[in-house]
Amino acid sequence: RAAQQAQSLALSDALQRACDFYRAQLRQAPNAIAYLKGRGLTGEIAARFGMGYAPAGWTSLKSVFPDYEALALVESGLVIDHVDEDGGNKKRYDRFRERVMFPIRNAKGQVIGFGGRVMDGGEPKYLNSPETPLFSKGTELYGLWEARQAIRDAGYVLVTEGYMDVVALAQLGFPQAVATLGTACTSTHVQKLLRQTDMVIFSFDGDKAGRRAARRALEACLPHLSDDKTVKFLFLPQEHDPDSYVRAYGAEAFDQEIESAMPLSQFLLREVSGEHDLSTPEGRARIQFDAKPLLASMAPSSLRLQIVRGLASLTESTPAEIESLFDLSKPVAA
Ligand code: ATP
Ligand code: MN
Ligand code: MN
Ligand code: MN
Repeated sequence: RAAQQAQSLALSDALQRACDFYRAQLRQAPNAIAYLKGRGLTGEIAARFGMGYAPAGWTSLKSVFPDYEALALVESGLVIDHVDEDGGNKKRYDRFRERVMFPIRNAKGQVIGFGGRVMDGGEPKYLNSPETPLFSKGTELYGLWEARQAIRDAGYVLVTEGYMDVVALAQLGFPQAVATLGTACTSTHVQKLLRQTDMVIFSFDGDKAGRRAARRALEACLPHLSDDKTVKFLFLPQEHDPDSYVRAYGAEAFDQEIESAMPLSQFLLREVSGEHDLSTPEGRARIQFDAKPLLASMAPSSLRLQIVRGLASLTESTPAEIESLFDLSKPVAA
């Protein structure tokens, strides 16, 4: 336990030192500055998020860690040890090279990992820290520490997909934004968010992946809803994400989108209605079939009752019929 604590202290110290190094490098990297300017970001906003630049060399971090080869740096995710097939030679090199760096912080503001973006068409577009004792993608949300006061002030949090969405929204007047880290929104994410605010507004990309992400977020939310919480979904045009949308249409237009975001109940009913034919008994049965697991994952609440009523009227049933068909009187599984 004590050893574990000492180790995680060393990890976070290493990550902070790397973060300082990347920040200093950004000041000396005209191409990276030009890239960020080209994406409409100011130096001020880059500084607020502690953004940096990982330079081109394979072992640039040697200047941060003179004992680069000896230290237990693999755990931090900052370096990779390549071992030859025959198990002989070990070559250590920096994970992040020639990338714009986004530090990821935990609730205490400590750097726990990084996301790095290439500036040309290279692959992968984003490289994230691996899972480490400090960093788990399914738990952490990018920008939550930076946004915590703005979330309180706004009374809601905007959940996006990307680093750039968070930084661009913050610059353009929406500092209450966070991002999932290239993964689906998990149950843990939802619980974390609902502990901090009463309203969560998901704003994923308008493309197919974004719509799939919204569906996953819906499922992740259902077990954690209560009647004092509101969850909404903001759907952007197919070709946009929050960053590109605000740049194209302005903050007022995005404010309008937030105002008219779709309540979870409506999104759920739209999801289960799908392509099914409301005019046939089979179509209506299919809708109920699709709705059953979603409703079964909700705790009893006024909201659940309202959704049951909506489903009942859609499918020519009564709420009582649906409750009994779906076994909703049974306690939900934990
Ligand atoms: P940009 O505007 O810089 O192109 P984006 O955030 O719009 O970035 P998307 O392609 O929409 O990029 O991806 C959303 C998020 O998914 C990214 O911010 C990143 O966290 C994650 N992501 C995207 N591509 C990758 C990848 N190849 N590997 C790991 N994570 C990725
Ligand atoms: Mn996308
Ligand atoms: Mn984008
Ligand atoms: Mn995007």
